[in-house]
Amino acid sequence: MNFRCFDCHQEFPATTRQWCCACGGAFEISERPRFDRDKIDTKVSTLWRYRAMLPAFKAENIVSLGEGWTPLIQARAYGLEFLAKLEFLAPTGSFKDRGTTVLVSFLKELGVTEVVEDSSGNAAASLSAYCARAGIHCKIFVPAGASPAKLTQIRAYGAELIPIEGPRENASRAAQRAAQSSYYASHAYSPLILEGTKTLAYEVWEQLGRRAPDAMLFPTGHGTLLLGAYYGFRDLLEAQLIDKMPALHAVQAEACAPLYKIYTENLTELPDIPQGETIAEGIRIRRPVRWKAILRAVRETGGSVVTVSEREILIAQRELARQGLYVEPTSAVAVAGLHAARGLHLRQTSCGLLAFAGSAGEDVRSRQSLVIPLTGSGLKAPF
Ligand SMILES: [Zn+2]
Repeated sequence: MNFRCFDCHQEFPATTRQWCCACGGAFEISERPRFDRDKIDTKVSTLWRYRAMLPAFKAENIVSLGEGWTPLIQARAYGLEFLAKLEFLAPTGSFKDRGTTVLVSFLKELGVTEVVEDSSGNAAASLSAYCARAGIHCKIFVPAGASPAKLTQIRAYGAELIPIEGPRENASRAAQRAAQSSYYASHAYSPLILEGTKTLAYEVWEQLGRRAPDAMLFPTGHGTLLLGAYYGFRDLLEAQLIDKMPALHAVQAEACAPLYKIYTENLTELPDIPQGETIAEGIRIRRPVRWKAILRAVRETGGSVVTVSEREILIAQRELARQGLYVEPTSAVAVAGLHAARGLHLRQTSCGLLAFAGSAGEDVRSRQSLVIPLTGSGLKAPF
């Protein structure tokens, strides 16, 4: 397995301790495994049912806490029906476990004994849990102001917490300095993460009766779930198991929306925007590492980038809770984006789905579908 720079296509051995190319480009896996439906291990109810499509690891190096294969259930918002993929039921309470199980298995295979990461929340909690399971020492650089519930969780797993004052980037810089004598296990940078998050697409495809949904909406900061879904559906398209990609829509908080600015103003460089305050702390990212890949995924699939206000996020969070779905504000962002979806340029088939309403108890596989992953538990950010 090699890593390849998204921008200049230079290749690096996967054993490299560099976390990005000298040109600044993000790494991808150069030769990704092909999807083969006959190789799904249907007896396994975790994302490791797709082991044949994941990077190859020795069985004893696989670090799993039972992640993936999350339920896909009916939900409703603004009078529209959609299918909610309950990612917050993951072992550490967020979708991040999909990427972490693959990354930490890879690190175990490499013989890494200590890692560093910068994160204020779900990525760090997930990494800490899997490192605890693998016996890898974990140092987390956290920006001041991180959610106390998330810090408690990280500490409980035995990770070493190092608070860093100042803006979010200070924590990243501190982690990158520490990485010179350790391994930077970054959710934003490591291409192994996307190999894990791609299984979201495989699962949705299986759960819909082996077809793709018409559209998906994602809360988007670094975009690791949206990009994973893009890779996953592209694998299915290349294997001729679906005939079109779902439209992938990125939803950002108005207060911190660099992707929206690039998308609407057709920029060719990452803009320098202020770091606005938002309750959607998980996507409060000024400089998304894979912004070029996210824009490509959105444009190529006929998706879009939209923003939502703080008020809309709170309304969506409440609307979900009233249906028994308790998610953190960051997760509610995607559902709040549904509110704007009437104005989205959904494909023709998707226009129909915005009007459709299946009767209660109807088999989900028989209907057109809009899928929204609910990414993180409400228990992470109680207020
Ligand atoms: Zn490069």
